[in-house]
Amino acid sequence: MKINFSNIKKAKKLLNKSECVAIPTETVYGLAGNAYSNLACQKIFRIKKRPRNNPLIVHYYGYKDLKKDCYINQDFIKLYKKFCPGPLTFILDLKKDSKISKVATNNKNTLAVRFPKHLITRNLLKDLNFPLAAPSANQSSKVSSVSSSDVERDFGRGIKYILDGGKSSIGVESTIIDVRKKPKVLRLGALDISSIRDLLKKKISFNINQNKNLLPGQSRIHYSPGIPLRVNAKIKRKDEAFLLFKKRKIDKPNYFFLSKQGNLSEAARNLYGTLRRIKDYKYKSIAVGKIPNKGLGKTINDRLLRASKF
Ligand code: AMP
Ligand code: MG
Repeated sequence: MKINFSNIKKAKKLLNKSECVAIPTETVYGLAGNAYSNLACQKIFRIKKRPRNNPLIVHYYGYKDLKKDCYINQDFIKLYKKFCPGPLTFILDLKKDSKISKVATNNKNTLAVRFPKHLITRNLLKDLNFPLAAPSANQSSKVSSVSSSDVERDFGRGIKYILDGGKSSIGVESTIIDVRKKPKVLRLGALDISSIRDLLKKKISFNINQNKNLLPGQSRIHYSPGIPLRVNAKIKRKDEAFLLFKKRKIDKPNYFFLSKQGNLSEAARNLYGTLRRIKDYKYKSIAVGKIPNKGLGKTINDRLLRASKF
């Protein structure tokens, strides 16, 4: 995609004034503001209707900038070198003299950080004097946005500017890993746990406890298209939209497919857009067929399971 530098300049100007701007990333679109500004972070929570106790991910251009705000360690460096910029979010210890807004962290002494790969957003970050706090650009608890038109439909005039970067190439959120002690995955995402395990050569624990002591962003009801959804459906009931992993030779308006060839990356890329489309067509509920529970399929299933708690 061609980079429009005057659009980046416009976004920069607004961000410098503590305004919020939607930004494209390879995972999903973000609703960004100056992570050093309480005012900008308060605006993010307000626009998204996000519960105040659900901290924001902070986006950096590179780890040189990050070092002012967080402590890093060997596991971080290994993962950073291999996977960043990319769809991996780290939980790190915050430095006492960090300028990160306490609104962004909800007063926690840890910080979630990511280095997005999308070229437009990298150009923007490179040009700013601060990192960007940016949760996904969707109304709290609903499906994320994977295009500028998704963001526009969710927020309308609620956002000052949307920096268009085309369709998100991955389409599901980053994997979140706490690397402060023994590495622990807190959210399944675009990067497969097995590739983290292969690199670090150690056990990666997995803590997305479905029931208790959850961070709100990890709550069970999340990623909802706004209508009931059931998973692992073998048959479609009357009036339901039927969402299937692999395309079949069925030409019915109420059948939707995530992938032409049965490819998990393609399915992830199409997931949120298809859920939004089904809702737009005014279906009252969705039945989702079985999706292979491996690699990215685990992330897709995680999102659908949470959406089914609606
Ligand atoms: P979103 O930006 O909407 O994709 O959500 C960000 C996710 O990161 C949420 O699940 C948050 O709860 C999680 N998160 C942000 N900061 C922290 C932190 N310091 N420790 C653990 N999880 C965090
Ligand atoms: Mg989100």
